[in-house]
Amino acid sequence: MLTGLDLPDRVDIVVVGGGFAGASTACHLAKLGVTDVLLLEASESFGAAASGQNASMIRQVATDPCTGAMLRSSVAAIKDDDWGFPVDVQWSGSLLLVHGERGIPVVEAARAAAMEGLDCAVVPPMDARKRVSILDAVRFDQAIWTPGDGIADVSALLWRYLNEARIRGVRLKTGCKVTGIEVDGGKVAAVRTTSGRTACRFVVDAAGAWAGDVAMTAGLGPLPIAAYRRHLVVTPPLPFVDPAWPLVWHLTDDWYFRPEVGGLMLSACDQDLWPAGPVPRDPAILERLAELLAARCPPLADLPVKNWWAGLRTMASDGRFVIGPDPRLQGFFWVAGLGGHGMTGSASVGRLAALLLTGGLTDPAAVKAMGPQRFLPG
Ligand SMILES: Cc1cc2nc3c(=O)[nH]c(=O)nc-3n(C[C@H](O)[C@H](O)[C@H](O)COP(=O)(O)OP(=O)(O)OC[C@H]3O[C@@H](n4cnc5c(N)ncnc54)[C@H](O)[C@@H]3O)c2cc1C
Repeated sequence: MLTGLDLPDRVDIVVVGGGFAGASTACHLAKLGVTDVLLLEASESFGAAASGQNASMIRQVATDPCTGAMLRSSVAAIKDDDWGFPVDVQWSGSLLLVHGERGIPVVEAARAAAMEGLDCAVVPPMDARKRVSILDAVRFDQAIWTPGDGIADVSALLWRYLNEARIRGVRLKTGCKVTGIEVDGGKVAAVRTTSGRTACRFVVDAAGAWAGDVAMTAGLGPLPIAAYRRHLVVTPPLPFVDPAWPLVWHLTDDWYFRPEVGGLMLSACDQDLWPAGPVPRDPAILERLAELLAARCPPLADLPVKNWWAGLRTMASDGRFVIGPDPRLQGFFWVAGLGGHGMTGSASVGRLAALLLTGGLTDPAAVKAMGPQRFLPG
């Protein structure tokens, strides 16, 4: 890890951002033998933004087939024991609840995922209620049961990527903000930072909600990527909660809960467009959650609150990850728009980015579907 103000004069690749996108990309570059890499994080610690503020839920069914495939291959990689750094995951499964027509796309996605080998099943409410008793009071007409979903130790997962990168020779630095990207002859030439300048051939923009700001410093116009604020609420221990419950997400009514240290973590799935930067909490969200639960899940009405916070989910307009070279500037590479799946998808995201950066063979359909060129004319 680099300390002090010294930056190398020159590296091959600068990765901007020390969340899941940047850490996993650096890790997978290193695993492919590419170690002349410098990862810069503006905050004093890694994972200080969305990667440290998320709900820790691993969920493999997604309505977009490309995203679903990325999530499932990522979970297989997270489970793989062939890493030096263990990550604790409670594989307690997930129940996705749906009712009415709005549920049809996700039910179809689950059936397609099952055909492709994911252990998941569309089950009647009775089966779901056997697993989580309080669902007796909840309205839904189908549930998707995925036993291989769960709750991850997100900090351990982030540090797995960072440590794998570091021990292979990638240089990591916190407290160093990239303030500008120099361009020479139509190519990326260097990054300017709060700690000095480093020449480089590639910049990987893994700056989460700030990805557009970083691109702008290279003179690139925006892509349709925006950040949205979401709150999470944690209760103290509750006598009726079974810590072995799966995570439960009502996809039609937009709320979820999962066990958390004897109590629950919950969200009203709020999604307010928010600028990159500090994410203040809005006390109105507690009222909104309480009203929603009183109406939709009465056993969860009037819960005590132990802790609550908000973070930014950064999404492209089509909901897919944005991974690939920017055709407008040689050497500028996006790993952004990880949305609500960035922790779960992190292993595939970093692997795809590393393969593309190194010219390794990869699935052309995924490349076309994920690349930033999909938003650009011609
Ligand atoms: C409330 C909430 C719940 C979520 N729940 C889940 C979940 O259950 N499961 C799941 O899989 N995903 C979940 N997510 C999504 C997941 O957390 C994100 O997709 C993922 O963390 C995004 O990672 P990232 O690296 O792209 O962004 P970030 O984690 O935001 O990292 C970007 C980093 O770039 C740094 N940076 C910015 N500008 C600069 C600069 N100029 N120079 C240097 N560094 C810079 C920032 O400081 C930041 O640390 C959730 C997100 C939120 C907010």
